[in-house]
Amino acid sequence: MSDYKISTNCLHAGYRPENGQPRNFPIVQSTTFRYETSEAMGKLFDLEASGYFYTRLQNPTNDYTAAKICALEGGTAAMLTSSGQAANFYAVFNIASCGDHVVASSAIYGGTYNLFAVTMKRMGIEFTFVEPDCSEAELEAAFRPNTKAVFGETVANPALSVLDIEKFANAAHAHGVPLIVDNTFPTPINCRPFEWGADIVTHSTTKYMDGHANAVGGAIVDSGKFDWAKYPDKFAGLCTPDESYHGVTYTERFGLEGAFITKCTAQLMRDFGAIPAPMNAYLLNVGLETLPLRMAKHCENALAVAKFLKDHPKVAWVRFPGLEGDSQYELAKKYMPNGTCGVVSFGVKGGRKAAETFMAGLTLASIATHVADAKTCVLHPASATHRQMNDAELAAAGISPDLVRFSVGIEDVRDLIADIENALSAV
Ligand code: PLP
Repeated sequence: MSDYKISTNCLHAGYRPENGQPRNFPIVQSTTFRYETSEAMGKLFDLEASGYFYTRLQNPTNDYTAAKICALEGGTAAMLTSSGQAANFYAVFNIASCGDHVVASSAIYGGTYNLFAVTMKRMGIEFTFVEPDCSEAELEAAFRPNTKAVFGETVANPALSVLDIEKFANAAHAHGVPLIVDNTFPTPINCRPFEWGADIVTHSTTKYMDGHANAVGGAIVDSGKFDWAKYPDKFAGLCTPDESYHGVTYTERFGLEGAFITKCTAQLMRDFGAIPAPMNAYLLNVGLETLPLRMAKHCENALAVAKFLKDHPKVAWVRFPGLEGDSQYELAKKYMPNGTCGVVSFGVKGGRKAAETFMAGLTLASIATHVADAKTCVLHPASATHRQMNDAELAAAGISPDLVRFSVGIEDVRDLIADIENALSAV
């Protein structure tokens, strides 16, 4: 399937029905699978035979969808998780544990920042956060002997800064560690981080991939390119026998192409269990089928909205990486020449109060704690997700009190602009 173009793979990768089989893959809504002998089951536990035995570890429906996402990103192995949070946690925890250190871009989703800076810190993993536009020397200075990975978001939520993937990948590789990129906002339709040197890609599939606000989910994809075996001391979990899994050495048994995802499944999914319901994997697959059409429309609509906002007298500033003149435009053109995503951030003149008045005046766009969906949704972080912060704290978090995060959907853009114009007239 990988020889096909990405739009074809969105429809066909991951599952090919045999003669007389259902055209859509089945929802295998079963926790468990039957075997005729204990010996046959035992071989599965020893990883000597492949087959399904318990859905927390693997399920055919989940695997079909994971295989499709793997093909879209151009990876060698992939797995689904029950949320984007779980995907980012697993991706990092699969190679970093107590006493280790990770370098991360400071421009990342707030939930991921909290996961790293608070929860994983409590697990003994230290993070150093660097500005995405830091100099190479500043990036270099963030590394420590115990650094195990570098992390960033292709297009950050909600800052909308673009990660210089090559810069971060080069620095990571110079220190013998992989670059993990959360590719949620552009999706592989607009950016394939492996082509720029990233080693592991994660997703909150809850966003554009599902696209219809149907199912929370996540995914992890391995490029198969990072040579763990070159640094056996640093990545001992991948390169030495896992006594918790029958003494298997993942790099030896599964090669570079399969070691990371097999370990993540056999250890982390086994122990933490953040598996998606097969029904959710099925819904995600339905979303993936139309992803290229929706991404093109999201980007086209968002650019029209950004241009309208830029010229409006009641708008203080606009941030959209696809807008000429935006500080991120050049990077966006390099990494995402066909478009970035559908999210636009802007400030309403008059600060927090004006932003609230604007939001109250919208009728078509829904106020929702959600983003990257077919239906336009909008959030004022200062009065919602970041409500507990005063203006000084907001500034430290890079969120101005007037910031409105506008997730442009695939409606007729004339209706969206009319809605925005009407709401701004009340400000
Ligand atoms: N990564 C990014 C870029 C996100 O925007 C989000 C959620 O908004 C997440 C990860 C977390 O994903 P989820 O909400 O599916 O757990």
